[in-house]
Amino acid sequence: MKRQFAVIGLGRFGGSVCCALIEQGVEVLAIDQCEAKVNQYRDVVTHAVVADSTDEQALRHLGIRNFEHVIVAIGDNIQASILTTLILDELGVEHITVKAQNDYHEKVLVKIGAERIVHPERDMGARIAHHLMSKNVLDYLEVSDKYSIIEMFAGSKMHAKTLVELNVRASFGCNVMAIKRGAEMIVSPKADQLIQQDDLLIVLGADEDIKRFEQMFDDTK
Ligand code: ATP
Repeated sequence: MKRQFAVIGLGRFGGSVCCALIEQGVEVLAIDQCEAKVNQYRDVVTHAVVADSTDEQALRHLGIRNFEHVIVAIGDNIQASILTTLILDELGVEHITVKAQNDYHEKVLVKIGAERIVHPERDMGARIAHHLMSKNVLDYLEVSDKYSIIEMFAGSKMHAKTLVELNVRASFGCNVMAIKRGAEMIVSPKADQLIQQDDLLIVLGADEDIKRFEQMFDDTK
């Protein structure tokens, strides 16, 4: 049997999650109280239904507790988002991911059982800012409030040097977890690994250390 996910709220974020999940080959139930939104996704997802997710009976009838993971993608209406999450938790849904509008919203969501909280706008803003600050940085991912991972082009300053010579760990406290070289992936590279200009480094570290690392090897400086 295919894995089953439900997405509540078909705004830009919820809609995009639906499409990405379908591409991954899972079944998706899409729920929105707005008929026009539901019609927009009817041909994309496995099932699309018009329902108000703050109505416990409606969610029960949809058998929501049988879904492996429910994503609450209601944005503006924080009250509806919180109430929906509460009902999902009470109905016994095991995995709940909720889109938070702000930090206060997140605090409440944590208390009422949301397993994972996402801030798409804030996260995307941070990713784009890192890319703007350094041309070498392709992507940025926050892994906790203190640590992050960047995907960074080695560039001219790292070319033909080993990880030891670059002092990645000793001077910057960062860890190169992997190196993408064309189609090849060098996982957990050794200290004597020689870096090439076009290599893509995947680096984990504390935010401050990552920032220093980015600045030191930025080709534009
Ligand atoms: P995005 O930025 O992802 O476009 P948004 O943050 O602006 O979305 P909204 O448009 O407020 O979020 O909400 C997303 C969707 O959630 C809307 O299509 C809306 O109809 C739906 N929605 C809001 N409340 C409920 C509810 N109680 N039950 C079902 N759907 C709901």
